[in-house]
Amino acid sequence: MDLAGRYPNLHVSRHPLVAHKLSLLRDRTTEPKKFRELVRELSWLLGYEAMSDLSTQPLTVETPLESMAGAELEPKVGLVPVLRAGLGMVEAMLELMPSAEVWHIGLYRDERTLKPVEYYNKLPDAATVQVCLILDPMLATGGSSAATVDILKQWGAARIKQVSLIAAPEGVATLSAAHPDVAIHVGAVDRALNERGYIVPGLGDAGDRQFGTFAGPASEPGHAIGDETAEVVRRLQRNLAAEDSGQSSVPKEPPPNR
Ligand code: URA
Repeated sequence: MDLAGRYPNLHVSRHPLVAHKLSLLRDRTTEPKKFRELVRELSWLLGYEAMSDLSTQPLTVETPLESMAGAELEPKVGLVPVLRAGLGMVEAMLELMPSAEVWHIGLYRDERTLKPVEYYNKLPDAATVQVCLILDPMLATGGSSAATVDILKQWGAARIKQVSLIAAPEGVATLSAAHPDVAIHVGAVDRALNERGYIVPGLGDAGDRQFGTFAGPASEPGHAIGDETAEVVRRLQRNLAAEDSGQSSVPKEPPPNR
């Protein structure tokens, strides 16, 4: 399936450093400390690519020798990490853009229905930035991302990009269908979602692996989530398959958050 051909908004990095670091990140023996370092390094690389089309405005710079025409970033940028896994991507992005604002949005994925549930949102009434980067290491069902974009558009953000380390085809399809104007920058698109809503081959739970929280029932490999979760995944897969076969007349079933 040529996803990049089908979704003009999808940008999959071809950088060899991204491929190298993603392989280390996926490795089940990679400890949380190393995992966090890799999330940071990958965020830096993907952030650099995601911001390559931001506009600049002219600026005069006084070097020790003479004046010259320089440039400064034009739009105000907001970083929107999706709690909690997105937190590990913030520091690298702030290194790239120290003046960016950080706005937290808390959505958790209901483990049974896979629907995003909002639990934290302190955005002010009107947008204070022009470009928002949604930071979430895993673009899985796409439900949380589509819900976050809904919130940011309502807030007044003029331009929104999603930056993720790994995406599932189902997540790309869901987010692109709901918001085709949102650019999606990822390190890789994996094979599929499994019946528990995990990206395979993926890397497991990005939050647990960053923060060393492996005790919760949801992160146990054999943990059964139930029929509802599997049905949500099957629905996303049917949507994707219908798109794949060009059956645009097939009514699309809604993504989990809508
Ligand atoms: N969230 C994760 O952390 N991992 C997945 O595979 C899917 C969603």
